[in-house]
Amino acid sequence: VAKGAGKNQWRRYQAHLHAEMVERLELRSALDHAVNEGHFLLHYQPIVDLAAGTAVGFEALVRWHHPRRGIVTPDQFIEVAEESGLILPMGRWVLEEALRTAAEWRRILPAGQAPYMSVNVSVRQFRESGFVDQVRAALTSTGVPANSLMLEITETLLVKDDEQIWADLGILRDMGIRIAIDDFGTGYSSLGYLRQRPIDVVKIDKMFIDDMVTSQQPMALVSGIVNLAQSQGLVVVAEGIEQPAHRDLLVKMGCPLGQGYLFSSPLGPTEVLAWLRNTQSVAV
Ligand code: C2E
Ligand code: MG
Ligand code: MG
Ligand code: MG
Repeated sequence: VAKGAGKNQWRRYQAHLHAEMVERLELRSALDHAVNEGHFLLHYQPIVDLAAGTAVGFEALVRWHHPRRGIVTPDQFIEVAEESGLILPMGRWVLEEALRTAAEWRRILPAGQAPYMSVNVSVRQFRESGFVDQVRAALTSTGVPANSLMLEITETLLVKDDEQIWADLGILRDMGIRIAIDDFGTGYSSLGYLRQRPIDVVKIDKMFIDDMVTSQQPMALVSGIVNLAQSQGLVVVAEGIEQPAHRDLLVKMGCPLGQGYLFSSPLGPTEVLAWLRNTQSVAV
């Protein structure tokens, strides 16, 4: 290989790295602007009682309303938000907005029929001192009872034994807030390990649900998680249910709750009420 060719390749590589870095910096500054201007919105996906077909809760999922690109989903900006620390002001807004919405549902819906609200929380938010107080204040100012709030924390981010996070989760749970482990199965924690932890819910990652219908192994795995989790008093939510066959298998396994496009994709705030009206015979 000629020396020149290697050099050219190296230059191309450097140019590529440079372009990527510029792109990340641009994304970061655009995100910073979006946080200051409040260019975010929440969509809500129903969490469904699989046997009854009724919604018991909704998961709040953040979207960026980009002035040129339109609605941008979190896979395109959460990582940069985490790295830059912008997840802190963004996450605070998400929590407050989700609880404002939950409060509104409680005003509109018949007593006892208001679904709970589930909010994704980044590990970085837990590391920020005062997170527990932030949650308490948001509940107080919106008047939403603690047992109508669930917090989701992703399994892969909890691998390290971070005792401070577990202590805070314990305080939040003692307040009556439900704690869920999100994307369960993608990390390394075992249900045995989680048994000693302040957790109420495990959400099985959609990767396992996808493969369940076509091959034995994932099916046995999901069924194993469902059984073991329930024997430990945990509630199981299956994520990414797209086909009736997924739901039917999960019901047979005794999995109580699920989410997915089969029931509904994440909905805008006004669409939620229409969805409840059309599918749940809720009078709103
Ligand atoms: P997640 O918490 O596991 O949320 C589930 C993701 O799967 C959502 O993607 C949802 O739209 C998508 N989904 C739901 N049902 C189906 C289905 O049947 N099939 C398929 N293929 N996908 C389905 P989304 O909204 O793009 O969010 C991606 C991730 O971004 C979330 O994964 C969560 O980890 C993170 N995220 C979203 N909102 C927030 C937030 O407010 N704060 C933080 N820290 N993270 C968030
Ligand atoms: Mg989640
Ligand atoms: Mg998940
Ligand atoms: Mg996820």
